[in-house]
Amino acid sequence: MEGRSVSQAVQVSKKLPRTTWLPFALPHITQAEIDEVVDTLRSGWLTTGLKTRRFEKEFAHYVDVPHAVAVNSATAAMHLALDAIGIQEGDEVIVPVYTFTATAEVVIHCRAHPVFVDVDPITCNLDPLQLEKSITARTRAIIVVDIAGLPAEMDAIRVIAESHGLPVIEDAAHAFPASYRGQRVGSINELTAFSFYATKTLTTGEGGMLTTANPEYAQRAAVMALHGISHDAWKRYAAGGSWYYEVVDAGYKYNMTDIAASLGLHQLARSTWLLQRRQEIAQRYTLAFSCVPEVITPPNPIHCVHAWHLYLLRLRLESLNITRAAFIQAMAETQIGTSVHFIPLHIQPFYRDRYQLTPESFPVAFQAYQQAVSLPIYPGMTDEDVSDVIEAVTDIIKASKK
Ligand SMILES: *Cc1c(COP(=O)(O)O)cnc(C)c1O
Repeated sequence: MEGRSVSQAVQVSKKLPRTTWLPFALPHITQAEIDEVVDTLRSGWLTTGLKTRRFEKEFAHYVDVPHAVAVNSATAAMHLALDAIGIQEGDEVIVPVYTFTATAEVVIHCRAHPVFVDVDPITCNLDPLQLEKSITARTRAIIVVDIAGLPAEMDAIRVIAESHGLPVIEDAAHAFPASYRGQRVGSINELTAFSFYATKTLTTGEGGMLTTANPEYAQRAAVMALHGISHDAWKRYAAGGSWYYEVVDAGYKYNMTDIAASLGLHQLARSTWLLQRRQEIAQRYTLAFSCVPEVITPPNPIHCVHAWHLYLLRLRLESLNITRAAFIQAMAETQIGTSVHFIPLHIQPFYRDRYQLTPESFPVAFQAYQQAVSLPIYPGMTDEDVSDVIEAVTDIIKASKK
């Protein structure tokens, strides 16, 4: 191996590299979505209206929760969740450190402090033992993230939350549709935020949903999502609607458009099939990689339904003579797009400097980050595409063993 580049090593395979680039992520859009968007464009009603209301109702029904408020991102949904439970300046909110910045930035927007907590080494989800130790007299809420689409360990987290009287906000940006012990994600915690960003398991281009069983939280979030106005525009301008409205607070502009909801309605209707396809791909990957000792396959515990937004493979770098960056480069040379989830927040300049953190502050998240490579996993992949990914990974690993 000495002196040989990884890309040379990869060419031991006759079939690889592919002739076309396999993107890391792709939305799955059918004619039904296109027709619905066109119908909306022709209808004369582009922004929040009947289709958004219908999407909210159908989504709430699907995740088995009384209320769903459609918004323009998961970030907006989480900001509204913090507002609904009354987070104020100086409050502390628990945030797992292994996540995307959106999870913590909304806490900063409330002039509160994200208190970072390390994660479980296997699931990369919030570690309940670390959570308990991080609660102080100023803690007002706990945010949990379902990394890759695997629900966090809710039994343990809820016991801790309830014993301290703390509401749990679930960042389920990855976790539609997922379940924990037979219960749908979205109906488990006080408030749950879903993302419909272009790469997520259900997409509206940009979009999000806040779900809750609490009617007061739902009402507050609906008002704050549209300027703090007590009646929404659709009710005002529809036949029989009134011109009068009241501003009850300085709200935000977080409402979902009917154009976006048009996509969501059909993505939702196909969500069971979309999940099945991702499950099949995950199964093939795990079957192929479980006999490769240099990698760690993602957990898929029996008490959960995993949404498989990401397939988070981990490299045992100590048994390989390549870096993670070289592995990603070699994958790219075989025409396969990959990514890294996540760069933990404690090594991002903003949070690192603001809270004086070092990589060792959260050793589990830091190690998981160094090992992580996300492989393509989306319903539009063909069986051949999946085979190509498996072959590329196994070839590169075989050529790079210590
Ligand atoms: C994508 C993502 C978000 C943000 O979703 P938006 O809809 O883009 O606001 C939040 N948290 C996590 C973990 C994400 O991956």
